Formats: sequence, structure tokens, C-alpha cells
Amino acid sequence: MNFSSTLIEWYKINKRELPWRSTTNPYFIWISEIILQQTKVEQGIPYYYKFIQHFPTIQKLASADQELVLKLWQGLGYYSRARNLHESAKFIIKNYEGKFPDNYNEILKLKGVGTYTAAAVASFSFGLPYAVVDGNVIRVLSRIHGLNFPFNSTIGKKYFIEIAQKLLDKLNPAENNQAIMEFGALQCTPKSPKCSICPFVNECIAFRTNTIDKFPIKSKKLKVKKRYLNYFLLKKRKEILIGKRNNGIWKGLYDLPFIEFLFPSTETEVLKSNEWNIFFKNINYKIICVSNVSVHKLSHQHLYSRFWTLEVNNFELEYFSFIKSSKICDLPVPRLLDKFLKDNNIV
Ligand code: SF4
Repeated sequence: MNFSSTLIEWYKINKRELPWRSTTNPYFIWISEIILQQTKVEQGIPYYYKFIQHFPTIQKLASADQELVLKLWQGLGYYSRARNLHESAKFIIKNYEGKFPDNYNEILKLKGVGTYTAAAVASFSFGLPYAVVDGNVIRVLSRIHGLNFPFNSTIGKKYFIEIAQKLLDKLNPAENNQAIMEFGALQCTPKSPKCSICPFVNECIAFRTNTIDKFPIKSKKLKVKKRYLNYFLLKKRKEILIGKRNNGIWKGLYDLPFIEFLFPSTETEVLKSNEWNIFFKNINYKIICVSNVSVHKLSHQHLYSRFWTLEVNNFELEYFSFIKSSKICDLPVPRLLDKFLKDNNIV
């Protein structure tokens, strides 16, 4: 048996039943693939159901309010995915009369869709012969074939795509693609792969050379930026000052105002800082409480956040307005803020 036949045989016996595997509807598959870009399957399933229930068609998604789209996405992170889905749905309505594009190059034009997602939708929905290359595929191919170049470089990624494309069963690309990803997710896992029951054990170079933990090869680690944020929960009677972010990773989400420091600082240092004085210039305030510093980890940034709760008579800030605290739960907010509000019984 060749590589893809062995994989497909393994897949038929071991595959999980996942909701998006029982459809060839390109809209549903696109939604599932965008959710799964940065999210584990178990976490993604309820979001997938929630999304397709609220927006069963491209038309429904395109005509939805962006705030509702972001609200349904809340907790999944990487909010640009939700914004891109929404924009792409509008793009499909405008440019393809609401019909999902049925070829790889057109799918690739959708915002937020890269080569992996385009190959997934093209093969799963339309049976087109494009190989998917995600983290699972890279791990499986690099271990079995001993591919010792970094996958997170432009040339490396291109090379992996070429190899996956060569190995793809062109007559059965959908099942072949599902099989190799599932094999990476269940069998050839990052830690403790199940080599003793692996159908490739005799040919796998990583196994034969006892170098499994060396694959896949990665170039230098991403540098994580540390940010030190002091958030302000400004209360005016039963209202809270909140504003919509118009840039950055949380664009479109609602957030509290904050001041940022380059280094960690004590409460006293914050109170004496220029940033504080500028922020509260000519404002009467009363500090109600101050939280401990907590860290919220994103892939490229670690946010060290402290929340100050203050009472104010008034406060004006561009893009911010006071709204009833009971209304905040209707708004999309970053998980960091959602946690703080819930932990402190504010919403
Ligand atoms: S032998 Fe082990 S490392 Fe090699 S493909 Fe199989 S599970 Fe992965």
C-alpha cells in the first residue's frame, strides 16, 4: 500500500465523528476551518453550532450586525477571524451573488483564508486536488520522511506544501486530507505518539533514528512582548465608561480605558505617574478598589493587568461613553475583561 492508502485505511478505522465532516456545504466547512485555525476541536464544536444556528446561510452572516458576530465569537480569541468571516460573507454576496466560490484561487481571495483553508474548503466541499498543510500535517510528514528544515520559514512552508501535494491521492483528496490531519491529531501527536501501533513504524525516519522529539524543526522562537496595563473601571452611579476599540487585535470589541507602562509598577508608582496625572487631569475621583496584577497570555503578548475601580462625577474620552452596567453583557468584550467583570459580579 502507498502512503495515502495506508493513511486512509487508518482513518476509516480511527476517525472521530465531527459535525463538519458530515457536510460538503462550503459555507459550513469554511466556518469550521476558520474556527479551527487557532482553536482545539473540542473548544470549537459549540462555537461552530452557535455560529451556524445564528447564521445558517452566507446571506444571514453578511447582513448581521458586527457586534453580534463578535459576541458569538467571544472567548475564542483571535477576533480578526470573526471580522474576516463577516467581511468575506459580504464580499461573497457582492461579488459572487451569494454563492460560495467553487475554485481554489477564488476561495483564496477571501479575507482570512490562506493556502491551508483554501485547500481544505476546495477539497472537502468540491473534491479538488489540493493538499492541506497545517501543524498536524507538518509533524507527520517531517517525522515519517525525516524532513529537517524549519517549517516556519517561507521556503520551508513552500517545500512542505510541495511534498504534501505530491503525496496526495488526487482521486480522493478530501478523505486523504482529513486522514493525514486526523493521524496527526490522534496518532502522531506532539507528545507521546503511539508508535507501537503505527502503520508507518517500519519506515518512519524519526522513529528509526530515535529523534521523534526533534521533529518538526522550528526556527527561532517568537519573542513574546510583555505589556503592563492599568485598566480603569470608571463608575458613574450605575453606569460604566466603556468604548469600542478601533484598532489592534481587539478591534470592534468593547473595552475599558487603560494606561500602559513599559515596566512593572506598584500602585504608588502608578498613582504618581505622569500617565495617571494626564489621564485624570481636572477629574474628581474616588478609588473604590484595586485588583492584584493578573497575567493574560496571548501568543505574541503577555498582558500584565491591574484593574482600578473608581467613582467619578463625569469623564469624557473619545470613543467612550457611559452605559448601564447591566447592558455590558450584550456587548462583545475581550476575555480578559469578561473574566474581570464576571469575577467581580459587575455583569
Ligand atoms: S512511528 Fe511514531 S513518530 Fe513515526 S509516524 Fe508513527 S506515530 Fe508518528
